[in-house]
Amino acid sequence: MESSTLKDIKDIVAHYGGTAASALLPEELQEFVRDRGGVDFKGLKGIISFAIPFPGAVIDQLQEGPSRTYLYYYNVVNAIIDSLAMRISSSLEEEGWNSFPIPASQRTGDKFQSIFPHRSAARLAGLGWIGLSCHIIVPGRGPRVRLGTVLTDAPLPEGKIMESGCGNCQACVQACPPGAIKGVPFLPQVPLEERFDPQACHNYKNRVRESFGRRVCGLCLAVCPEGQNLGLTRGRDNEIMFPSPGSGVLEGY
Ligand code: SF4
Ligand code: SF4
Repeated sequence: MESSTLKDIKDIVAHYGGTAASALLPEELQEFVRDRGGVDFKGLKGIISFAIPFPGAVIDQLQEGPSRTYLYYYNVVNAIIDSLAMRISSSLEEEGWNSFPIPASQRTGDKFQSIFPHRSAARLAGLGWIGLSCHIIVPGRGPRVRLGTVLTDAPLPEGKIMESGCGNCQACVQACPPGAIKGVPFLPQVPLEERFDPQACHNYKNRVRESFGRRVCGLCLAVCPEGQNLGLTRGRDNEIMFPSPGSGVLEGY
């Protein structure tokens, strides 16, 4: 049965058309985050993950080239996520629980690393799967969402990990101009660098800035058929099976 705490949170997030789910923070992920960013969330073993939809038409524009509107809404959606995370956090505290709202977009000091991997939280909570593009892929929405996370010591239901629905699709791999997406399926034990080259993506956006004035790309968001409402008709063969989140060393977040 769904906890009343989680139901209240779902209601808060639904105000912006979002969905929320919960999971338990695996020890391995806790250690990974501490080792990488030096932040210890000890005692906060509950994860609340939520996904806020990004305006689809704005993402569609990215197929035609870089878009300032995308950058504008990127900041708008991040602000909504931070606001929702704070509201969820205060709601939990009012009920007597501790909580930590993870900022929508904050780095550890390394420009490629966030203080907590939102997409891992979303995967553990079962909001979607981590696709070849390394984005969370939400059924019916694809990667056209942005994620928020709140950690808490409130008792919450465990999440159900979703199998990959990428199947034989390679659209994001083929669309990525610098070849940053390597086409390797997500596995918790596989380092991110084996699936994705963040420096190549970063350098490509720098080149876009030279001609367009802003660092932007997002083609991997725009081409994903799951986000174009084609996912249900494309057919999923679910060939890729994931091990349980507790197995092995986690390096892939
Ligand atoms: S944003 Fe562009 S360059 Fe970066 S991974 Fe996506 S498609 Fe490739
Ligand atoms: S474009 Fe295709 S391969 Fe890439 S994440 Fe989306 S469904 Fe998966």
